[in-house]
Amino acid sequence: MQLSHFQRDQGDRRPGARHAADRPGGSTKTPGLVDGFGRRFQYLRLSVTEVCNFRCTYCLPDGYQKTAGPPFLTVGEIDRLVEVFAALGVRKVRLTGGEPTVRRDIGEIIRRVRAASGVDKVAITTNGWNLARRIDDWTAGGLTNLNVSVDSLEPGAFHRITGHDRLAAVMSGLDRALELGVPSVKINAVLLRSAAGAAQFARFAEYVRERPVAVRFIELMRTGDNADYFGQQHVGGQVLRSWLEAGGWTPRSRGRDDGPAVEYVHPDYAGRMGLIAPYGAGFCDGCNRLRVTARGQLRLCLFGEGGMDLRDLLSEESDRVALQSRIVDALGGKAAGHRLAEGLTGDMQRLAQLGG
Ligand code: SAM
Repeated sequence: MQLSHFQRDQGDRRPGARHAADRPGGSTKTPGLVDGFGRRFQYLRLSVTEVCNFRCTYCLPDGYQKTAGPPFLTVGEIDRLVEVFAALGVRKVRLTGGEPTVRRDIGEIIRRVRAASGVDKVAITTNGWNLARRIDDWTAGGLTNLNVSVDSLEPGAFHRITGHDRLAAVMSGLDRALELGVPSVKINAVLLRSAAGAAQFARFAEYVRERPVAVRFIELMRTGDNADYFGQQHVGGQVLRSWLEAGGWTPRSRGRDDGPAVEYVHPDYAGRMGLIAPYGAGFCDGCNRLRVTARGQLRLCLFGEGGMDLRDLLSEESDRVALQSRIVDALGGKAAGHRLAEGLTGDMQRLAQLGG
């Protein structure tokens, strides 16, 4: 059997791992995904649903509203899509949404994505509503990276922001993930003016004192739907940086497939604290991710306009080489960066549309 250069590099020996090069139309020559600015893409963020059961004030304050359009991708379509991205050099796939875990078949999706040859990291971003009940199954299925969105560790504030009084259940799910030894466990917290202060930062720091968890604060991003809210609640990341530096936290060097977060470490703490600052200079220079919507559109930027439909090439009979070519060709249109600083949010009405 001839292996693609990627498979040779990775030496994938997991039982059950599938090899794209073995399949009709599978590629044996994979130049990889590189855009016109020399950025390499080994990371796919795949939305599996637009449905969300939370009502976060900055995203879906009125809850999820059904929109017209084709149904969400099936497990089979996801399988084929991921195989083709893997053959093009993608090694990490993040499942997001909406809330990805409202899908009953999310455990099966995790297993199938993990079985794709070359994919060595399967990540999920979740609000954690059913984490405690499902994390054993997801971990057994091969989940490697868990990101849970927890905007506040104060139960009342958590309830006000998300519309759900579920902080304790979410935190018990996180504890179970740590017990199981999930390789990477992170918390995402949106930095909101009403909650960004020393008390909030101290609470999270206390949480990571004994736990190997990275808490990353994300600067609130403006979207088509939240302009007024953004005006009231956006606060720059400097407030967190100053607090961390005053407390003896230092920025750590970054790994090859790390996202845009700058993480800080401290000798007295097992975990890390971090900041994702999309309005900062050079934020897009190290962009390493591509996105596909829950309805099968390739999106080159969270805040871009339009997408490339892949759905017609995701059936069992479809030509995988044609799908590879479409993805590679589309990449030529990737812009240098988003234009959020100019107030341009592209098609992005709310992040639940595509995943953060
Ligand atoms: N439902 C999942 C969750 O809650 O993590 C995944 C989807 S959610 C859209 C992904 C992440 O985007 C969450 O951490 C959420 O807090 C963040 N997010 C949503 N809207 C945002 C905004 N306007 N600015 C910054 N982060 C946002």
